[in-house]
Amino acid sequence: MRHHLNGQEWCVCESGFHIGKANVFETLFTLGNGYLGTRGTLEEGFRGEYSGTYLNGVFDAHDASVIDLVNAPDWLPLAVYVHGIRLDVQGCKVLSHQRALDLRQGVLWRETVFEDPQGRRTRLETLRFASFADPHLCVLRLAVTPENHGGPVVIESALEGRRSNLDLLPAYAGTPVFPPEVKWDKWAKSLHLAPVMATCDQDSLYLEMRTIDSGIAIGLASTLLPSVPPLRNTVERHATRVAERQEFLIPVGVTLSVDKFVTIHTSRETPASGIAARCQEELAGHLASGFEAALAANATAWGCKWEASDIVIHGDAAMTQAARFNIYHLLITANPADPKASIGAKSLSGEGYRGHVFWDSEIFLLPFYIYTQPTAAKALLLYRYHTLDGARDNARANGFSGAQFAWESADTGHETTPKWTADGRHRIWTGEEEIHVTADVAYGVLTYVAATGDTAFLTDYGAEILFETSRFWLSRLEADTASGRLVLRRVIGPDEFHEHVDNNAFTNRMAQWHLVQAARIHDDLARKAPEALAALAHRIGLLPGEAAQWREAAGRILIPFDAGSSLIEQFEGYFALKDVPVTEWDGNDMPCYPAGYDHFNAGETRLLKQPDVVMLMYVLPDEFSDEAKRVNYAHYEPRTLHKSSLSPAIHSIMGVEVGDRARALQYFRRSALVDLLDNQGNTQDGIHIASAGGTWQALVFGFGGFRVRNARMSFRPWLPPGWSELQFCLFWQGSRIQLRIGREQASFLLETGPVTRVPILVENQEIILEAGRIVTASLCPETAS
Ligand code: BGC
Ligand code: BGC
Repeated sequence: MRHHLNGQEWCVCESGFHIGKANVFETLFTLGNGYLGTRGTLEEGFRGEYSGTYLNGVFDAHDASVIDLVNAPDWLPLAVYVHGIRLDVQGCKVLSHQRALDLRQGVLWRETVFEDPQGRRTRLETLRFASFADPHLCVLRLAVTPENHGGPVVIESALEGRRSNLDLLPAYAGTPVFPPEVKWDKWAKSLHLAPVMATCDQDSLYLEMRTIDSGIAIGLASTLLPSVPPLRNTVERHATRVAERQEFLIPVGVTLSVDKFVTIHTSRETPASGIAARCQEELAGHLASGFEAALAANATAWGCKWEASDIVIHGDAAMTQAARFNIYHLLITANPADPKASIGAKSLSGEGYRGHVFWDSEIFLLPFYIYTQPTAAKALLLYRYHTLDGARDNARANGFSGAQFAWESADTGHETTPKWTADGRHRIWTGEEEIHVTADVAYGVLTYVAATGDTAFLTDYGAEILFETSRFWLSRLEADTASGRLVLRRVIGPDEFHEHVDNNAFTNRMAQWHLVQAARIHDDLARKAPEALAALAHRIGLLPGEAAQWREAAGRILIPFDAGSSLIEQFEGYFALKDVPVTEWDGNDMPCYPAGYDHFNAGETRLLKQPDVVMLMYVLPDEFSDEAKRVNYAHYEPRTLHKSSLSPAIHSIMGVEVGDRARALQYFRRSALVDLLDNQGNTQDGIHIASAGGTWQALVFGFGGFRVRNARMSFRPWLPPGWSELQFCLFWQGSRIQLRIGREQASFLLETGPVTRVPILVENQEIILEAGRIVTASLCPETAS
């Protein structure tokens, strides 16, 4: 099976089994297809595993302190017994163990050689994938070779419905460190699944479970297809688990191969009464065409994804591989076919943040999809549209008008931020105060429309989002009698160290931007699509004059800085805080908390968790002069601890922009390697998917120097030493452009598509792209150096 793997730049490898790293590899080796994600647990499991399959959009609140993305019935379990001994990495001697995730076709390969106490050596090889060609299909091939013995081999395959999510961690005295084999046992678990149906017959297993509160039925059908007929086949049926055992006699040196096919459907997309039949029908179809056909169809589907989304850094193979690893995870977590699911902070690769959706979706992830997979981008924004009612409820519950997007959002859009940390020690205020998310969603909508030209999206959905959220801002703003200004009190900006602050520059400026844009869109629609506007006004009870109020309010918002000049105060009173210097860096070169400080008291200082003013300058690049960017970066960057994985990518991009090039590269590497090196220390909980999106942005917006300026693509690239060329694609107005950015020149090929002519700017020279023609622009030597 190893022959199926691509070369090094496409593979991430594990060598040996190390329990201390096993949960990290489970995250790194997550397989998925946007519909589901399955962590890279060994097929037979291990003590200390943190296994899980997560189905996009399947949430449940039962029994949990806060609603969870459900740890769904597990399709993976497959164990091998040789001479009655179960082969697993903790019970047997492991002579060798290797795995490789092939990013190009989304397959996970494994080879382990076991030795039992009698010295019998058995080689086990697997290849598995969650198909991108049919997102309801998962496939696993197993090959077992008794190397120095012959005899009985039993294969046991199961569908497991007894699953739970991690909920709360008891507050132990001190901070005890538990051995990796038992650390998850310490957590309180929550149960989300109740049995519906379990059947086993000669041909297949079927298990159906239902989420207890949200009532989503989840069905899985499975069959084992061995290369030789088994001597005996037995099945076992429990209400929450079905299993099948096949027994063989295998001569020494002969390989037994078994394929496990699994189909999965839920009542989110298939009527509950039809799930069993649908799973069985599709299973039969896939069994008939077989493993090789499923593998080939999956590889073809992956090929199309990579064609649009790949990035190659010529001259840096290691960073190309890291970039691809990030892109791989971005690709497996978005479902373009599902307008009611977005992407949780840990994608579908773990339970961190319980699968909740943050501003990460619009600010960190969306650009990747807008420019490489626009259908997925649209689906992500439709999720916000479909959760508008939840956002309306949030606003009402907080005493405001319109729609307020949740800081943490799940299936309905209602606020789902926990009020306490998992150990119950600290109050969390983000759900109440981190209100900038509402403007971030609006920003996502308009970025998408500008890049795709999808004005139908704007009239059908986007305008409603913009208008309802503008109403929220209008009611959330307070009049400050002393200054006559409108202010936003008691907020948290992107830098979460500082809570309950007034007039955070990022939040105020984004709210202002939001109101101005909403008023502009309103007036545009009044001119260009009056009927659509009238229908929308009727639907949401929009009164004449509301747009004028938005514009007027925007003009009165207190913006605590002078855009033209110098240093911006992050919020009122920030400059009066203690200025505690960073003096230590850890093994990954990440800043450490100064002595005596941690997440919960860093707010007494000027230290930042992640960029805030610098973030504002990134999202609104044209609103600030080069000088203002330099001055603010110089002030805030040394005070930023990057305790959020969202931080390094933004510093990389802004580092390029202000000329801090050495750090820009260093920040890029931190971002690209955040999970591969586990440099935040919590990759076990899931992929830092916002950092993956940030890594893509660092390549394209940072080193590629791409921005949209006055509705036009513009480029001001800079390549780090050793990189000879950056190669990637961007969708623009429905057409795809292939870019090759070198040190001395950049070339562009507009592919044949809906637009035939695209004027762009390269370092301020206007260049016209014409479909089918490669256009080359020279770059200033000092820019490219
Ligand atoms: C995050 C917040 C989040 C909270 C609760 C914190 O670690 O920084 O953004 O709301 O956890 O999930
Ligand atoms: C960050 C937030 C982010 C959240 C989820 C937090 O640690 O501070 O900005 O939205 O994680 O990724």
